[in-house]
Order: sequence, then C-alpha cells, then structure tokens
Amino acid sequence: MNASDHPTADVLIIGAGAAGLMCAAIAGQRGRRICILDHADAPGKKILISGGGRCNFTNRFTGPEHFLSQNPHFCKSALARFTPEDFLAWLQRHRIPWHERKHGQLFCDRSARDIVTMLLAECARGGVRMQMQTGIRRIEKNGLFRVHTSRGIFCAERLVIATGGLSIPKIGASPFGLKVAEQFGLNIVPPRAALVPLRFSGEEKERLRALAGISLDVRVSCNNRHFREAMLFTHRGLSGPAILQISSYWQPSETIRIDLLPDTDIHPWLNRWRQQRPQARPATALAELLPKRLARMLCDELRIHAPLSAISERQWQRMDTLLHDWRLTPSGSEGYRTAEVTLGGIDTRELCSSSMEARRVPGLCFIGEVVDVTGHLGGFNFQWAWASAHACATAL
Ligand SMILES: Cc1cc2nc3c(=O)[nH]c(=O)nc-3n(C[C@H](O)[C@H](O)[C@H](O)COP(=O)(O)OP(=O)(O)OC[C@H]3O[C@@H](n4cnc5c(N)ncnc54)[C@H](O)[C@@H]3O)c2cc1C
Repeated sequence: MNASDHPTADVLIIGAGAAGLMCAAIAGQRGRRICILDHADAPGKKILISGGGRCNFTNRFTGPEHFLSQNPHFCKSALARFTPEDFLAWLQRHRIPWHERKHGQLFCDRSARDIVTMLLAECARGGVRMQMQTGIRRIEKNGLFRVHTSRGIFCAERLVIATGGLSIPKIGASPFGLKVAEQFGLNIVPPRAALVPLRFSGEEKERLRALAGISLDVRVSCNNRHFREAMLFTHRGLSGPAILQISSYWQPSETIRIDLLPDTDIHPWLNRWRQQRPQARPATALAELLPKRLARMLCDELRIHAPLSAISERQWQRMDTLLHDWRLTPSGSEGYRTAEVTLGGIDTRELCSSSMEARRVPGLCFIGEVVDVTGHLGGFNFQWAWASAHACATAL
C-alpha cells in the first residue's frame, strides 16, 4: 500500500473562505476529521473586505426570491435549515456586536475580523486542520480522493469544493471549482460577473462622466426586475446599490431604464413654478428636485433652455419621460476586478439540494459561491455560504 493511500482526514475541504470554514467547523464538531487546503496566505480574506470592512453577514429577509439560479427552488432546502437567526445565535455565543441597516441588512459593529475570528475559533473547537499557502496541482479519484498539492498528497473519502467565485482574483479567487466540475464531467452554468458597476463608452460615457460623484435615490429596471436604491455616477459609468443589483439581471447590449424621481409627479411641481416664477430657467427649477449638474445635463440633452412660460407641453412631456424613464445602454460591466459575486457556476441539477453532493460523483460536494446560486446585494451571498455549508456539513 502506497503512503498516499492512507486518508489524511475523513473530509478534505478546498477553500478556507466563508463556506469552507463554516462547513469545517460544523463537520469537525460532529466528530469528522477535517483538513482544509487553501492557496491563499490567510483564511477568510473576502470576509475581511466585505461590507466595507464590517461584513454584511446576513439579511433578516432571506428567502429564495433574493437569489438567482437556473433552478430557483434549489436553494430553498438549505436556506430553510440554516436561517439568519441560526447565524445570529453563533454571534451571540461569541459576543459579537452587530446592527441592522435598511432592508434587513445585518453588519458587525466593530469589524469583519470578528466573523473570521469566530469561524476560526469554531474550527479549532472541531479540531480542524488547516493548510494555507497550499497550491493544488491535481485531483484524482480512485476509491479515495487524492489531492496533489505543493505540500504533498492529501487523501480522503470525501472532498468539498468551497473555492468561491471569480471576483477579485488578487485576493485568491480562481476558476478552480469550475475546473474540478469539468474534470468530473459535471455541467457548468457559464459564469459572469454580477453585483458589478456598469461601464459606458463613446458619447454616453462622456455625458455621464460630467456627473461623476453624484448619488441619488432611483428606481432602476431591466428584464422585468427593478430595484429602488441609491445610484452613483462614476468616471466610467454607473455604480451604487441600485446598479449593482440590476447588473445581475442585465445582459450585454440590453438597455436599463432609470426613474430619477420615483416618488414625484412633476406636473403639480411644474404648475407651481410656472405660476410663481414663469421667467425661471428649467434647469433652475429642476435643481429643486435633482442635483444641479444632473438638472443642467437633462435640460441640455432636450435643449430646453427658454423660460418656463415659453416651454411647450410637448417639451415637458419629453422631460417627464426622460425623468421617469431614462434609457441607457451600458457597453459592459467592470468585470471580475470589482464584481462582488459570480453568477453561474456548478449546475444545481448536478447536486443534491440537501447535502450539496454531486449526484454522479459520490463523495464530491460543492458549497458556497461556486454553485449556481447567487444572492442579491445585502448579506444574501454570505447567508447562502453559511446555509449551503451547513447542509453539506450535516450530511458528511
Ligand atoms: C468586495 C466584496 C464585498 C462583499 N461584501 C459582501 C457582503 O457584505 N455581504 C455578502 O453577503 N456578500 C458579500 N460579498 C460576497 C461574498 O464575499 C461571497 O459570496 C462569499 O465570500 C462566498 O463564500 P465562499 O466560501 O463560497 O468563497 P470565498 O469566501 O471567496 O472563499 C474561497 C476560498 O477558496 C480559496 N481558493 C480559491 N481558489 C483556490 C485554489 N485554486 N486553490 C486553493 N484555494 C483556492 C480562496 O483563497 C478563498 O479562501 C462580497 C464580495 C466582495 C468581492
């Protein structure tokens, strides 16, 4: 018998991120011998940069409607079995202070480091062995899974892939999980950057660049989905929560529609201005409702510069349309360099929804962002990482 035929552990987990650490902690505490392998120099790096350093670790309103997947039902079982309240119970055990922001988003009071420290403490309680800075060279399955690494061969009966999505390669993201799926003949839903700023080119880029720095509350829609959130004009295009959310639904060459004044009917407002200040310029009047630079740009766009009293109903109608249904066609997204998540991944039809195990490859599991389940902005992606990890760990 070759030395590499001896199992290193009951379970090998590749990826010491949100899902990998959670899965290791739970399975370790259930008595499984767990070894985590990761090529990065420290665990949980994405957690540390998340939520502006405060980690938006879950969302009170977690439900399947906040996730995109080719099979929208797949996430239901795992989400129901490990809820935001279950995660809060972990925080309570570790006395980690947190607070709620709008839309049910929960953040650490102090720092995202609290979450990583908690996960590492729970892993230690479960006797988890962790091998960081370990490059994975190849995987074989011949009875056991044999993982060839820069630190030698690791063997186990079960292998969990928790290597996340493709965003932010400079902190360790890689297409590793997709390659493993390919190796074992599992179908992949093509990946794409999501929760990502949108870029523009040509004239549209120049027009928007003049507005860089402006942020306002809008309603943005595309493909029958809409989000009411803040939008930010940047030097390259559009960002802010409204845009990140809609980017997950936007496809190249499609147009997004923006309501710049979602709560305002401009007609009563216009009548008041016309009566009280008929000689005022439209840009001056509009600046009561919108940031000045934006008001001026919209008036320039429609060439509406005459005093209010001289502007025709038709021109106001065009302004009304522009204000409530501004149509823009992004040239692309900022891509994985700045995206928060990756859409697509391991096709959920390949996995069992209660254990995350590949139906066609016994012992091989996929959890977290590498799976074709992607949350909206607001803590849903971490909740999926915790819930899918929990489902897998309790079945290991
Ligand atoms: C800037 C930013 C902010 C975010 N903020 C939030 C937020 O506030 N709330 C929220 O819900 N979500 C947020 N997200 C998304 C969230 O971080 C991810 O969805 C979540 O971390 C996914 O967990 P995971 O365990 O699947 O993958 P990850 O946490 O990415 O962990 C993957 C691990 O696998 C390792 N790995 C990758 N490739 C290899 C390889 N080839 N060999 C060995 N190891 C490998 C990596 O080093 C890493 O440790 C944010 C993402 C970004 C980029």
